[in-house]
Amino acid sequence: MDLKGQQVTLSLIKADVGSIGGHTRPSPAMMLVANAELQYALAQNVLLDGMVTFVGDDIEILMSHTHGVDSTIVHGVARDCFLAATREAQREGNYGAGQDLLTEAPSGNLRGAGPGVAELTFTLLPDYRKAEAFVVLMADKCGPGVFNLPLFLTFCDPMHNSGLLLSPTLYKGFSVRVIDMAAKEADRVITLNVPEEHLALAALLRNTDRFAIEAVFSRVHPEEQLISAAVTRLHNIAGKYVGKDDPGMIFRVQGIFPAPEEVVEPWGVIRQIVTGDCRGSHNMPIMPAAVETPVTGPYCLPLVSALAFSMNAEGKFSHNVNDLFGNPAWDWVRHEVQRKAMDFRTQGFFGVAMAAQEELAYTGLQETLASLDSRFQNR
Ligand code: MG
Ligand code: MG
Repeated sequence: MDLKGQQVTLSLIKADVGSIGGHTRPSPAMMLVANAELQYALAQNVLLDGMVTFVGDDIEILMSHTHGVDSTIVHGVARDCFLAATREAQREGNYGAGQDLLTEAPSGNLRGAGPGVAELTFTLLPDYRKAEAFVVLMADKCGPGVFNLPLFLTFCDPMHNSGLLLSPTLYKGFSVRVIDMAAKEADRVITLNVPEEHLALAALLRNTDRFAIEAVFSRVHPEEQLISAAVTRLHNIAGKYVGKDDPGMIFRVQGIFPAPEEVVEPWGVIRQIVTGDCRGSHNMPIMPAAVETPVTGPYCLPLVSALAFSMNAEGKFSHNVNDLFGNPAWDWVRHEVQRKAMDFRTQGFFGVAMAAQEELAYTGLQETLASLDSRFQNR
C-alpha cells in the first residue's frame, strides 16, 4: 500500500533478556524465537516492516507501523519477542534471563517497564523530502548520556560537521530537547535552540549521568523530528539495577537533516570515554563495532553499532541494511579505542578509571565505607 503523505512511526525497542556465559550476546536460539514472534506480527499485518538484531547482550527490535508512538499493539509485539527469548534463555540456562523485563507493564506500554524505547512519527515522503533515509545507533555497556557528545558535535561544531556551513537548512539550526534523568516524579525536559544556545546546551550535556538528548527537531520544518533516543534510567525504575541502560537512537538523515557520515564522524575522531563496562561501574572508551558483535573484549569494552536504511513508500526498510561500522575503515579506530582502553586499565579501580560514586551499580564500596565510619575518630 502506498503511504506517501501518511504518518508512519519508527520504533526501536531493546532489552537484555539473557546471554551466553555472562553479558556477552543473546544465543542463536533466542534470536530465532524472537524473530519468529516478529514474523508472526508481520504476517498478521500489525506492522509495515520489522527486523531483529543484537548489539552485545541486547536484543534490538526495529519496527515501522501506523499506530503512532506508545502503541500498546506495537509494544506488545516487542514484549512477545522478549518473552519468547526469555523462555529460551531460561531453557538454555543463559545468564540474566529476562533481566530487563523489570515490571509487568500493566498498561501494555513498555516505556518505563525496563526495555529501552526510541520512537518517532513523521510524514512519509512529503514534497520537500524525496527519500526517507535513517540511521539506527545501538550501544551496549553504557548509559543514555553516551550520545550527548557525538550529537553536540554533529549539531553545533562545523569542525565535525561542515554540513552546518554547506547546507542552508542545517545552517538554520535545530531544536534540541534534553531530559533531566535525575527527576523521578515526572518527566523534566528543556528545549534549546542551536546554534545560538549551544553553550547552554554544552553546559547540560557535559553531565552525561544526569542529562541526555531525547529528541531533535528541524527549525526549518518544526514538525519534523529527526532524532529519538531511549533515555530511561533503569535504576530509577527498579531502585537497584545491576547494569547499564544501553541506549539506542533513531536518526533520520540526508536532505534537510545531517548526512550519515556527519552522524558517525565523532565516533571515530573522539573515541569518547563513557561510564559502563564491567559491572556497569567503570569508565572506558566506546568502540564502534559491526552489528551482532558479541562482547568478548577486555573488561566489557562499551560497543556502539550503526545501521543505515532507506524506507520505501510502503514503509518497508529491512530489505537493505548497510552496517556503517562494519567497514574496514573503522579497524584503525577500533585499535585506537583498544589502546586507550588499556591505558585506563593500568589504573584499575583508581580515580577516573572507576565510575562516579552515584553510578556504581554495586553496593560493595558503600558497605565497606559504612562499616569503617564508626572507627573514624575526631582528633
Ligand atoms: Mg547486560
Ligand atoms: Mg546490554
